[in-house]
Amino acid sequence: LQDVTEQKELEEMRKEFVANVSHELRTPLTTVKSYTETLLEGALEEKELAVSFLQVINHEADRMTSLVQDLLELSRLDNKQVKFNMKLINLVQLVAESVEQHQIHALKKRQRMTFHSSIEKFFVTIDPNRIHQVLSNVLSNAIKYSPEEASIDVNISQEEECTRVSVADTGIGIPQKDLTRIFERFYRVDKARSREMGGTGLGLAIAKEIMEHHKGKIWAQSEPGKGTTIILEFCK
Ligand code: ADP
Repeated sequence: LQDVTEQKELEEMRKEFVANVSHELRTPLTTVKSYTETLLEGALEEKELAVSFLQVINHEADRMTSLVQDLLELSRLDNKQVKFNMKLINLVQLVAESVEQHQIHALKKRQRMTFHSSIEKFFVTIDPNRIHQVLSNVLSNAIKYSPEEASIDVNISQEEECTRVSVADTGIGIPQKDLTRIFERFYRVDKARSREMGGTGLGLAIAKEIMEHHKGKIWAQSEPGKGTTIILEFCK
């Protein structure tokens, strides 16, 4: 009986996933189609208007590309086709580099991104590119979901055999009931707002898969209206 229930649940999840993918692709396609039609019907004659329409089309095409890339990535992770290139890496240095790369994006919103570590070195066996990808997603979210002039603090602390990397922002926050759900595929707290921000809704689902592959953990703490902290834990 257990098996039948599990199978039904899986089938439900599969159906929901397909419905989500279809919806996510249909929305930009509808926009591309209607803007193209308007251009063909004569808007092409007006140079400025035409340029602005083409910019929209270009933007929607980019969005579809990111979505398909994320979907392929998840499917490869599901099918265990992703080759993890495990190396002994100083996590402190890797995090410092990721922070540095994102500081420039934070600056565009006049946000202050800082980095502190209570330890100088923490060597763990990880795939540095994949962990950089996780950090990149978490740091971009902190920037995206925080207002101008917010502060983002990245911190590394040691807890016995484990090390925690926390990314704390002073952004919009996440309601308690959504804290675990944001790691589900396509789950967004505010669908319209998140889409506007250009996300696929798959970033944290991918991050979670990657962390699990490293026998690590990722979770969120938040106070709506005050900010969010995402924590990554790596153990020896
Ligand atoms: P998206 O591409 O929509 O950003 P993610 O998988 O990266 O998708 O995140 C899932 C959802 O979690 C987001 O749509 C957003 O609602 C919420 N979220 C993630 N990070 C933060 C954050 N730092 N502050 C507030 N909400 C966040």
